[in-house]
Amino acid sequence: MRKRFIINSLNFVRNTGVHHGKILPAELERLREYLSDHAGEIAYSISGILDEKGRPVLKIIITGMITLCCQRCLSKLEHTLDVKTHLLIARTQDEYSSYDEDNSVDAILASPDMDALTLIEDEIILSLPISPRHLENECSINNITINTSEATKAVVKKHPFASLKSLKK
Ligand SMILES: [Zn+2]
Repeated sequence: MRKRFIINSLNFVRNTGVHHGKILPAELERLREYLSDHAGEIAYSISGILDEKGRPVLKIIITGMITLCCQRCLSKLEHTLDVKTHLLIARTQDEYSSYDEDNSVDAILASPDMDALTLIEDEIILSLPISPRHLENECSINNITINTSEATKAVVKKHPFASLKSLKK
């Protein structure tokens, strides 16, 4: 069973709540699909604050290290997480729709029982590079002598993580 931390988002802001913790990459089920292995650790914090306009906001900070899969050589690639997000809490569906039209803000709908770790996981996945790769001089593909350039192109054309998924099957 994975850990859960349920908050009532508006109450959390009203009480200027703060929650922080650590989680292992393997504990986040949807994130696991993107990982090369389960090394690393993720630290997170969620705070309930009001923005300069007095609107309720969840401030999320995520740091740590996870291991992605290089899309050129398919071996592991250490990836540093450094996510800082402000999520406006919409009190009604109408408010949510109006926030949604504004590209400068991210919003979520208020909920009495929101799973904070699901939110953390969403933010991590959103922050991942679309096509993670080693730097040119660090990528082991440069050491492979057989001509794999055609194969590499084929991998890159697919969804960036499709090759990882097929490897795991
Ligand atoms: Zn590589």
